[in-house]
Amino acid sequence: NQGIGSWPARRARMTPDRVAITYAGRHHTYRELRDRVYRLASRLGVGHGVGHGVGHGVGRGDRVAFLGANQPALVETFFAAGLLGAVFVPLNTRLAVPELRFILEDAEAAVLVLGEERDGDGLPGRHLTAGGYEELIAAGSPEPIDEPVGHDDVCLIMYTSGTTGRPKGAMLTHGNLTWNTVNLLVDVPLAHDEVTLISAPMFHIAALAQTLIPTVLKGGRAILEPSFDVARTFDLIEAERVTVMFGVPSMFAFLAQSPRWARADLSSLRHLLCGGAPVPEPLIRAYQERGLTFLQGYGMTETSPGALFLAAEHSVAKAGSAGVPCFFSDVRLVAPDGSPAAPGEPGEVYVQGPNVMPGYWRRPEETAKVLSPDGWFRSGDVGVADEDGYVRISDRITDVIISGGENVYPAEVESALYEHPAVAECAVIGVPDGRWGEVGKALVVLRPGATAGADEVLKHLDGRLARYKIPKYLEFVAELPKNAAGKLLKAPLRKLYGG
Ligand code: AMP
Ligand code: MG
Repeated sequence: NQGIGSWPARRARMTPDRVAITYAGRHHTYRELRDRVYRLASRLGVGHGVGHGVGHGVGRGDRVAFLGANQPALVETFFAAGLLGAVFVPLNTRLAVPELRFILEDAEAAVLVLGEERDGDGLPGRHLTAGGYEELIAAGSPEPIDEPVGHDDVCLIMYTSGTTGRPKGAMLTHGNLTWNTVNLLVDVPLAHDEVTLISAPMFHIAALAQTLIPTVLKGGRAILEPSFDVARTFDLIEAERVTVMFGVPSMFAFLAQSPRWARADLSSLRHLLCGGAPVPEPLIRAYQERGLTFLQGYGMTETSPGALFLAAEHSVAKAGSAGVPCFFSDVRLVAPDGSPAAPGEPGEVYVQGPNVMPGYWRRPEETAKVLSPDGWFRSGDVGVADEDGYVRISDRITDVIISGGENVYPAEVESALYEHPAVAECAVIGVPDGRWGEVGKALVVLRPGATAGADEVLKHLDGRLARYKIPKYLEFVAELPKNAAGKLLKAPLRKLYGG
């Protein structure tokens, strides 16, 4: 088994007694992690030549979904699925029930594993509750499992929304994730004794692939936090002597704005990984004043995620840039006419390399739009390279708002708004926000004769969309700007209402 599912066992072979996971004040060694992963896999895989007794019949290629915050069960389910050659499908806990239902049906999950804080009300398919999960592990076998899993096998499917409405699942292989780890380790010299604080959600690629997976590879200790909390973060950094942390810019900004910032003992921190959205320069400076530099990265779910990386030694000289391509990846900037963009000229960012996904789950047409036959992935982002090849991400072609590190696709929000009977036309744009980077603003044209308040229209989105997708502002307008073909023009809207 060359897959990532074998990593806990490989680690336990070398360092069984080191702590792998700290959660809710309890420590779990690599030996314990390996045994629990084997036990779980032996029961999930019943009926496929692994284990015996009551199980879930999960075999190669079957999807195993997980709904829950960061917790040991998420990590164990990820590795156990990988061990069986099955595919892990982590779900965003912030999604509303109809959104989760769509993903579970699209993925045709064989089983949904529920985190300790969740129930499966309203969700389709077979569920495994936290209680059932522990029973399964207790009844399982700790004997080694050796399924033939290779680098080309799909390891996980992560759903990302899109400009075309419905979310699609980016398939990432064991090879994709392994090469991303190698790319990361080239730039970030993680040691064997790192203490990694994981408070960004692992249902997003960065926390999983840039912190958990490399920490396990090196035999470090991962502290799992179910959510990000400023006071807890300072407490943990000080008490546990945290050395590595990943965050989106808004998380790091919350820390710097806290009254504890000035007196906090941050001396244990070695590597601060920041990405997922543009990193504002004042934030970079605030951390520099404390002697801390960000390792900035640019990437996306479809590239596992690392594409560009700015090493610590260049973080000051090249502030504002997302860096150069990761060691085993290539990035090119393509001008609108298809030619290579010259230094200083904007171009769409394309990525190629062993970290690029093979495609979207059961969406050949969507895949063909973004992935060329020779493996170049179109990001939908615009970048500008300087003379040294350092790329600054300057714009997005894709209509997306990034709010606190979560992507919000206006198309999805607009189609939910259109379901309100008083809405004749609408457009959602991003407006700058001090806390979240950007937030959504809806511009709505009411039907003739209709009356509705802004609060009422926004309330209609409750329960249909995840809360982070619901616009913070709503303004009624008489009309929306369109081109001759009747296509909505967002650029003038952003100029008029984006301030
Ligand atoms: P996701 O597909 O959810 O992983 O989000 C990926 C998107 O986040 C990219 O396509 C970019 O638009 C944005 N992004 C990620 N990292 C950066 C960065 N360092 N600077 C600017 N935008 C970023
Ligand atoms: Mg994306």
